[in-house]
Amino acid sequence: MTYEKPPWTATILTLFPDAFPGLLDVSILGRARAQELWALETVQIRDFAVGKHATVDDTPAGGGPGMVMRPDVVSSAVDSVSKAERPIIYLSPRGKPLNQAKVKDLAAGPGVILLCGRFEGVDERFLQARNVEEVSLGDFVLAGGEVAAQALVEACVRLIPGVLGASASTAEESFEDGLLEYPQYTKPRNFEDLEIPPVLLSGDHAKIAQWRRDEALKFTRSRRPDLLSDQLHSARTNPTPKKDDDR
Ligand code: SAH
Repeated sequence: MTYEKPPWTATILTLFPDAFPGLLDVSILGRARAQELWALETVQIRDFAVGKHATVDDTPAGGGPGMVMRPDVVSSAVDSVSKAERPIIYLSPRGKPLNQAKVKDLAAGPGVILLCGRFEGVDERFLQARNVEEVSLGDFVLAGGEVAAQALVEACVRLIPGVLGASASTAEESFEDGLLEYPQYTKPRNFEDLEIPPVLLSGDHAKIAQWRRDEALKFTRSRRPDLLSDQLHSARTNPTPKKDDDR
């Protein structure tokens, strides 16, 4: 008998499991899940509530507005999940902003366990006690972690081999080489007096590659200069080996 490796699995801990699969069932991601290229499970945090009022949250120690998710309730929910080396991630505006390098890393592993916060978030002791990593979708505040969890899962799943039709389609996109993608064009040749750049119609592949590289650099320089300085920084800290060192 052969045992197959389980597919990449996302377990979502949430107070709103009805929000899933949501967008994760649309188009290629939905098809890929039907083909068991990845799996999704949800855990209702409320099933681990305490007391006769089935409480999941309480008022913040020290006062202030809103409610905080209780560490005992959230820990029980997390402890009910079989981990299999998967990282536990709390979607949080205080986390490290998600980027493509992190997505690639997560997509290459066995999957993720994602905690979606609500209210003012979770008790800090839960994060400490379960060694939870915090990941942010960006510098803005959502009402809950569910949209962020779906974004993270979508970004990972499209990198799983077999999910996108042509694997080449992820090789040249934004962030792959530390740059934003070059501009894309399609038919018609003339749109409201705007032409496709002639080089793209020249059939000269070397010239097209050079043009795309130049454009990618130009866009990155004007829109996201931080990406270029990140690259410079990592080149300085991890210098590329000299030719002689290549085996
Ligand atoms: N009081 C918190 C915000 C709570 S928002 C603070 O100021 O940091 C409620 C929940 O939404 C959070 O627990 C988190 O799970 C989710 N959330 C909000 N903004 C987010 C973001 N930018 N990225 C990821 N998750 C976010």
